[in-house]
Amino acid sequence: MAIRIVRIPALSDNYIWLVHEPDSGETIVVDPSEAEPVLAEADRAGWRIGAIWNTHWHPDHTGGNAAIKAAHGATVIAPAAEAARIPTADHLVGEGDRVALGAVEAVVMETPAHTAGHISFHLPAEQALFCGDTMFAMGCGRLFEGSAEQMHAALGRFAALPPETRVYCAHEYTLSNARYARHAEPDNDAIVERLETVERAREAGEATVPTTIALERATNPFLRAATAEQLAQRRAAKDSFRG
Ligand code: ZN
Ligand code: FE
Repeated sequence: MAIRIVRIPALSDNYIWLVHEPDSGETIVVDPSEAEPVLAEADRAGWRIGAIWNTHWHPDHTGGNAAIKAAHGATVIAPAAEAARIPTADHLVGEGDRVALGAVEAVVMETPAHTAGHISFHLPAEQALFCGDTMFAMGCGRLFEGSAEQMHAALGRFAALPPETRVYCAHEYTLSNARYARHAEPDNDAIVERLETVERAREAGEATVPTTIALERATNPFLRAATAEQLAQRRAAKDSFRG
């Protein structure tokens, strides 16, 4: 049976992903910024959270670790390169490591740029990607600890995943990203169309995430950047864009 992925909105614009594998009954949570809504959702579903998967150390991705560990005895799986900044970590992982969710396997991809040790979790059999703050729908993370070269490499790896792969990013930034995308690529009809779809969805209070690799290949100006230099230029432009 396919895994179930529940989107839990948290803080002002975070998404926490609660993932359940029905055959084994195992449940994990990706990037819990806070514990309360996660524990409430798990209670409602009758799921015990066995593990927490962190993509990077930022508090809006790890803030719920301690309380979820205390409540469910969960094991925290975190990037080895950020161990010192995630004191709740139990199991450290890096490029190519495999993490099990029941019968389903996640492969760890090192995707540094937003933070120096940022990782993503790819579930090939489920065609799902949890990419934290590396890529967003129509956008990418800010370059706090890494370079445009690193971000270009990470997004290039995402672009090479099967197009139907669903992408579970950690923030609802799509409207702002879509407005910048239209500015960056004014002749891209797919971007103009998606901007309209996103505007309608946000007016109705609906989420625009998950996205897919196919959609990002058509409409994400950062993933579409031909070179690291172009990505750097677009990232700097977006940082100050008021659209
Ligand atoms: Zn972050
Ligand atoms: Fe974040």
